[in-house]
Amino acid sequence: MGQWIFMDGEFVTKEDAKVSVYDHAFLYGDGVFEGIRAYSGNVFKLKEHLERLYNSAKVIMLEIPYTMEEMEQIICETLRKNQLEDAYIRLVVSRGKGNLGLDPFTCGRPQVIVIAEALALYPKEYYEKGLEIVTVATRRNRPDVLSPKIKSLNYLNNILVKIEAHLAGVKEAMMLNTEGYVVECSGDNIFLVKNGVLYTPPTYLGALEGITRNAIIELAREKGYVVKEEPFTQYDVYTADEVFLTGTAAEVIAVVKVDGRVIGDGQPGPHTQTLLQAFRELVVTDGVKVYPQQKYQVG
Ligand code: PMP
Repeated sequence: MGQWIFMDGEFVTKEDAKVSVYDHAFLYGDGVFEGIRAYSGNVFKLKEHLERLYNSAKVIMLEIPYTMEEMEQIICETLRKNQLEDAYIRLVVSRGKGNLGLDPFTCGRPQVIVIAEALALYPKEYYEKGLEIVTVATRRNRPDVLSPKIKSLNYLNNILVKIEAHLAGVKEAMMLNTEGYVVECSGDNIFLVKNGVLYTPPTYLGALEGITRNAIIELAREKGYVVKEEPFTQYDVYTADEVFLTGTAAEVIAVVKVDGRVIGDGQPGPHTQTLLQAFRELVVTDGVKVYPQQKYQVG
């Protein structure tokens, strides 16, 4: 069975899923998106993802031609159409076709695209051994210039970080803001653990408000951890007991070396492992059910 992609009200094959070169998403990166995951037929934190999408769209004055409830249905239908229970879902809303000028008001209807694919999981060894990361020279977009809270199709800031990471021979890299505080990585939020307390940068420093980040904060607090959203520097990262990253694709992944400094004992730490475990238990039971008659439905 081929893969079906939702494009503006219909399902088309992967081969037929084409966008116009006049779409301002192509010409200018004008649009918004979400990366979402389904686990065992549950779409994890779908409402939170849709809220973030609609907020991003509102800020760039992009009117999504579906209500949030309709969008929820479209996503579930895309999974059903592709017979997927575990999937990575990419939801894109582009500005739509316009002329070559920058003006978004020349564009027609925004285009909604939903792609659902079986997830290419990160290799197990990343979780077992942890990641090495570096700090890059590229600074995070200033929130007062272009808010990183807008999950837009303009990802050049992050792509520059990926390039630096690649040149340094690592998978992820840490960005600072223009004041030199740690903000996040190219596609993941960052946490550190010191004396049993969790720290993550406040989003006003310029981080995306990660859905996984928020889920981990909530889970950790339920487990009795103190979680502080406060600014920290590279010093605090280097001297932390544990460092980990969170993101829809990565879930919770330990960082064991930063800029050549070994974190803790150089192994994924116990708090990181506890939180990953708790997260993996949460994702299979929580979320919007795609298949109403799931045999493994809980509760
Ligand atoms: N930061 C950035 C820059 C991201 O692109 C992402 C998501 N891909 C994240 C953090 C993590 O966010 P989430 O947990 O919502 O996937």
